[in-house]
Amino acid sequence: MTAVEPKSDQATITVRNPADGRIVGTVPIDGPEAVAAKARELRLFQPEWEAIGPRGRKVWLMRWQDWMLDNADHITEVLMSETGKSRGDASFEGVAIADSINYWAANAEAFLADRHPKAHSPLFKVKKLTTVYRPHPLVGVITPWNFPFAMPGIDVVPALAAGAAVLLKPSEVTPLSAVEFVRGWTEIGAPPVLGLTTGYGATGAALIEQADMIQFTGSTATGKKVAVACAERLIPFSLELGGKDPAIVLADADLDRAANGIAWGGMFNSGQVCVSVERVFVEAPVYDEFVAKLTDRVRSVQQGQEGSGFKYDTGAMATAAQRDIVERHVQEATAAGARVLAGGKPTGVGTFFQPTVLADVDPSMTCMTEETFGPTIPVVKVADEEEAIRLANDSQYGLSATVWTGDTGRGEQVARRLEVGAVNINDALANIFCPSVPMGGWKQSGMGYRAGGPNGLIKYCRQQAITAPRVPTQKSELMWYSSSTRGRRVALAAMRAFGGHGVRRFGIRPNKG
Ligand code: NDP
Repeated sequence: MTAVEPKSDQATITVRNPADGRIVGTVPIDGPEAVAAKARELRLFQPEWEAIGPRGRKVWLMRWQDWMLDNADHITEVLMSETGKSRGDASFEGVAIADSINYWAANAEAFLADRHPKAHSPLFKVKKLTTVYRPHPLVGVITPWNFPFAMPGIDVVPALAAGAAVLLKPSEVTPLSAVEFVRGWTEIGAPPVLGLTTGYGATGAALIEQADMIQFTGSTATGKKVAVACAERLIPFSLELGGKDPAIVLADADLDRAANGIAWGGMFNSGQVCVSVERVFVEAPVYDEFVAKLTDRVRSVQQGQEGSGFKYDTGAMATAAQRDIVERHVQEATAAGARVLAGGKPTGVGTFFQPTVLADVDPSMTCMTEETFGPTIPVVKVADEEEAIRLANDSQYGLSATVWTGDTGRGEQVARRLEVGAVNINDALANIFCPSVPMGGWKQSGMGYRAGGPNGLIKYCRQQAITAPRVPTQKSELMWYSSSTRGRRVALAAMRAFGGHGVRRFGIRPNKG
């Protein structure tokens, strides 16, 4: 059995390395017919995949994990070639997904186990009640370009673990890592329940026409289009969208740790991370000291891509368009009075943009209101914790946040007042690759939880209720029900409503005692 692979030869997409413009591969553009054919083929094999159960699926997931670890260097090379990432930024993707497989493979059986809820009323005590999780047969996963291997992995792995078949549509900018992702599944000889469809936005739209459920990650604007298209078909969806994550640095924080963590959280993957640190609020007494430390740290960031070692911290931007957005945000900030303390410009080579610190930033600037998605860290001085919380919450986005403080309890109190889906205290990005906790954006940052915890698996399922008699049913079967006053009142009301048929229908009769 082989996985579905791209077949259309209508036209192709040429993929280039944005760091130097080299052509690194091509993929086909699938039209609606090609997408429909792949969806049909995947559906053929899904019932068998569901039937082998979590234990059977675990075997294949673990073999896929082995494949990812065995091919880690190759995956890194492909990632670097189509994104312009540094080796360090690229190499973590395959390993992170291999790690997440441990979680889903270990927990799927428990998460998907039948539940037997207790009857709420004496009327149903004669019934065995069961809740069953049945997967959506075909899940469509649409992913962006910032983590071309990890993004598919975050969504596809739990969907497969749930028993769904999956058709993956990666960004047109970075489809080659997704080709490898699906190739791994094919190479281990797994059942052909994972397919790949490549193309532009129209291919993603065609996928929505075929799938039974959609998981989308990308911009808020496209996410809204996806939501409308899913609503037209009445299929469920979950969206992981943009972010503008705040960092709050309180005066009692370890400023070295805060500067290091915020530099890393803002520069990792050249800032092209939905949960990147995009805004920093610092209490006035430590503002100057923190800004000096952050500037030192960001100036030391090594940017580049060449070579086989781990010399560079970050690489290029994935697209010229994204680099231009970053440049515009920096220019608008400086025109409005912000100071550039590090970087501030494109390097002039490929799509690189210098690691940048902006100080004396005003919350009204575009670099504070729109998602920048680049290697810039704008810093705002605030009077106190209250002002920091107010400004952090003053955003259309609500993905995640960080709080930096010497008092973890205080950090947790601040966290509970932030309007975001996750808060990391004295750390950045800690939650995103920890599948034990839920990940999902609030406000314009998402809808439905994306990943993590039992819901990260159950979201790929439909719940089915099954009721069955506990004992052989007989026409005149009797059951004495609880003598509690409320139980008796409800049961008698139900019997009256059924005009006396309640006795036969529910197999009960009133307790005379
Ligand atoms: P998009 O949201 O436009 O694209 C995300 C995915 O959706 C891609 O696979 C894209 O395909 C696909 N797509 C586009 N249109 C449709 C449609 N109508 N129906 C179904 N699928 C569709 O992101 P961009 O790549 O344009 O990036 C724009 C901005 O989004 C960035 O500047 C950044 O701010 C933000 N972003 C957020 C990310 C996150 O993790 N939350 C990740 C990446 C970007 P194709 O690429 O082929 O058009």
